[in-house]
Amino acid sequence: MSDTPIEDLVIVGSGPAGWTAAIYGARANLNPLVYEGAGSRTMIPGGQLMFTTDVENYPGFAEGIGGMDMMTEFKRQALRFDARVVTEDIVEADFSRRPFPMRSSGGREVLAKTVVLATGANARWLGVPGEERLAQSGGGVSACAVCDGALPFFRGQVIAVVGGGDSAMEEALYMTKFAGRVLVIHRRDELRASRIMQERALASEKIAFLWNRTVEEVLGDEVIAGLRLRDTVTGEISEVAVGGMFVAIGHDPNTAFLRGQIDLKENGYVRLPTPWRTETNVPGVFAAGDVMDDYYRQAVSAAGTGCMAALEAERFLAARE
Ligand code: NAP
Repeated sequence: MSDTPIEDLVIVGSGPAGWTAAIYGARANLNPLVYEGAGSRTMIPGGQLMFTTDVENYPGFAEGIGGMDMMTEFKRQALRFDARVVTEDIVEADFSRRPFPMRSSGGREVLAKTVVLATGANARWLGVPGEERLAQSGGGVSACAVCDGALPFFRGQVIAVVGGGDSAMEEALYMTKFAGRVLVIHRRDELRASRIMQERALASEKIAFLWNRTVEEVLGDEVIAGLRLRDTVTGEISEVAVGGMFVAIGHDPNTAFLRGQIDLKENGYVRLPTPWRTETNVPGVFAAGDVMDDYYRQAVSAAGTGCMAALEAERFLAARE
C-alpha cells in the first residue's frame, strides 16, 4: 500500500450520480478515478438506466432518450474532462483513517482523500422455490424485461410480471411487444405505480391484472411452466400456466461492502446526517443517488446529488489543503 498513489477523489459507481460527480470533479481538477463496476448477472456499469428503454422525464430530452444512450453520453462527458475509469467493483473500504484505503475486485489497492459512493441499487427477487434456479439457468425467469424480454423464448407466450409499481408497469408494457398476453400479478388490489403508468397499463388490451395474489412457487424443471399463486384475501391456492416471469418488486441498495464502515439506515441505504448535504457520518465520504435515496429514486435527482457530492468533496479538500 506504501507505493499506492493517493487519489483526491474516488467515485464508486457509474449511474447518473457517479458520472455527474465525475464531470464536476474532473472540471474542478480533482482528477477523479471512477470505479464503474465489474458487471454481474443483475447489474452492469451504467447502472439501472442501462435496463431502461425510454427515459421520458429527464429534462432536456423533449422526445425522450434511451437509458443506455443516456448513460453512454454521461460517461462520454466525464471522459471528455479526463475522468479515469476502472471497470472493477470496490469490494472493501476502511473509512476509519484517511486517506481511505480501499480494495477493488481486481485486487487493486486504492487510497482516497475523498470518496463519493454512488453504487445505486439492485433488483429484488421474490425468494420463492424455483425462482433462482430458473433465473440462473435462463429458464424464463428474469428481473429485467428490457434485458431479456426480446429473446425468442418469450415470443407469443403468456408472461407474468410481478409487482404493482412503475417498474412493473414498464416491464408489462414492454413485454406487450413480444408476448401473446401479459399478466400483472400484484399482492394488493391497488397499484403503487404513478397515474400515467397505471393508465397506460390498464389501457393495454394485452395486459390483464391478477389482483391480491402472491407467487408461492415457480413451476417447471428446465423451463418455467407456470406459477403457484396464493390469494391474499381468501388464502386460495391456484396455478396459472406461463412461459415467463419478470420480477419487478423494487430494489435494494448496493451497500454490502460498506457495512461496519459507515452509518446505514435500517433498510440498508446510506444515512446522510445533514439535510441538503451528501456527506455521510464519515468526513470526506459522500453518497449520491439511489445508494442513499429511498424516496425519489430518479435519474435527475441522482445526477443532482452527484453534483452536490463532488462540490462538497472539492470544498472538503480546499478547506484542508
Ligand atoms: P416500488 O415503487 O417500490 O414498487 C414495488 C412494487 O412491488 C410494489 O407494488 C410492491 O407492492 C411490490 N412488492 C414489493 N415486494 C414484494 C414482494 N415480496 N412480493 C410481491 N410484491 C412485492 O418499486 P419500483 O416499481 O421498482 O419503482 C421504484 C422507483 O423508481 C419509484 O420511485 C418509481 O416511480 C421509479 N420508476 C419510475 C419509472 C418511470 O417513471 N418510467 C420506471 C421505473 C421506476 P406494494 O405496492 O403492496 O408495496
